[in-house]
Amino acid sequence: MVRVRFAPSPTGMLHLGSARTALFNWLFARAQGGAMVLRVEDTDAARSSRELEASILDDLHWLGLDWDEGPDIAGPHTPYRQSERGEIYRQHAQRLVEAGMAYPCYCTPEELEESKRVALAQGRTPIYGGTCRDLTPQQRAEKEAQGRRPALRFRAPRGEVAFQDLLRGFVRFPPGAVGDFIIVRSDGTAGFNFTVVVDDATMGITHVIRGEDHLTNTARHVMLFDALGYPVPVYLHHSLLLGPDGAKMSKRHGATGVREYREMGYLPQALTNYLALLSWSPPEDREVLGLQELLRLFDIGDLSASPAVFDKQRLDWLNGKHLRRMDLEELVEEAAAFAPDWSGDPRFPVMVESVLDNLTTLGDLPAYLEPYGPPIVPEGRAAEWMHGEVAAKVIAEAVEVMGGVDIDSIEDADDVIAKIKQHFADRDLKPKEVFMPLRVALTGRDRGPGLHYLLAVLGKDESISRMHRALETMGQVNPGGGE
Ligand code: GLU
Repeated sequence: MVRVRFAPSPTGMLHLGSARTALFNWLFARAQGGAMVLRVEDTDAARSSRELEASILDDLHWLGLDWDEGPDIAGPHTPYRQSERGEIYRQHAQRLVEAGMAYPCYCTPEELEESKRVALAQGRTPIYGGTCRDLTPQQRAEKEAQGRRPALRFRAPRGEVAFQDLLRGFVRFPPGAVGDFIIVRSDGTAGFNFTVVVDDATMGITHVIRGEDHLTNTARHVMLFDALGYPVPVYLHHSLLLGPDGAKMSKRHGATGVREYREMGYLPQALTNYLALLSWSPPEDREVLGLQELLRLFDIGDLSASPAVFDKQRLDWLNGKHLRRMDLEELVEEAAAFAPDWSGDPRFPVMVESVLDNLTTLGDLPAYLEPYGPPIVPEGRAAEWMHGEVAAKVIAEAVEVMGGVDIDSIEDADDVIAKIKQHFADRDLKPKEVFMPLRVALTGRDRGPGLHYLLAVLGKDESISRMHRALETMGQVNPGGGE
């Protein structure tokens, strides 16, 4: 059975790039009827936290992704946090020591730093020079006597390392490209390259899908799998998420966290759709895809290895499409948190519907709903519609037409608008000359929700009273005699 894993380090919130890795793993696991494992790589105790872990899991769930095993649901390979797997790493390290494939290294950080500096200065790749590789028992005893605490280093085979990558084909590292590397630090904690391999092996991971930034680590991992006698999993190193300037997507390109997009009012299905499309073209030119549709159409074999360049406009476009694709009731529910000043109003669903065509994110909602609030003093083009006799006459007569009807629904508002049209039918007026003054009278703006929405949401009394106030500011007497 296919078993994949998503292995976040809880040292920050969930990054879009990591979310993309999680998505690819999830899509692959679900399409194959396999298992998705969530493993928390929290060996960096100083930078990891349970709060960050919880926020990552929460954002993954929000995206619609789930897993079959993980720290929150246990499973056959519990524990799923690396910080709780120390004993498993210790046993595996011991196996390598006993087989002569790992040795204690007494070099100090300063000594290592110095040889790295020399290598770089000479234009060589800084790999471990092997100072402690062949120490005699007596030499080791001397180092111990000096109080040096050893790290444990893997005796990397000298030959070529190669592995099959589903996206990149055969990947080779020439002999000598990988030096002996540390698998257990001098403080006794296991190093990243070691924990990943021990976990992937003991958790029965069959496919490792991760970013291409791990390619050189994979050379080390393949060696460790071999040394420990475990089968090497199938690899797929996908391209990285880049900013528009070609550098790895980071803060300076804008928001990078899933949580940030969530808080700005992007929909999870728009994000997963967007992240998938960055490296994959769906069949039949269907671009707007919910997670289940993605799952049906996506094939990991069709991923592109080209860089994935973040394009906010495309994400915005997709988000708008997904907003307009949602069931209105569901949308209104989602929208409530973004417009707390409006969501308690029984007419909130109509308000949301009225601006839906213009929305990019739910975060835009309050700005689009402003026309339903107190009218503003018209300026610029809006003010121009209110100049002159005609506008005042139109507003005054529209008030009269409205006096004779009820406006309790959109249908009522449509009827009123039809009546107003009819009323002015034999006048030589363009539709705009009738409806723009009414719109500006109701809101102070020359754009916003459709007039029928404005009338329906504001209701008859509020609409008429706004129109009266407009007439007053236009210097007209109150023609309807109301209020
Ligand atoms: N914990 C690693 C990271 O967050 C992932 C390691 C892996 O996928 O092998 O980059």
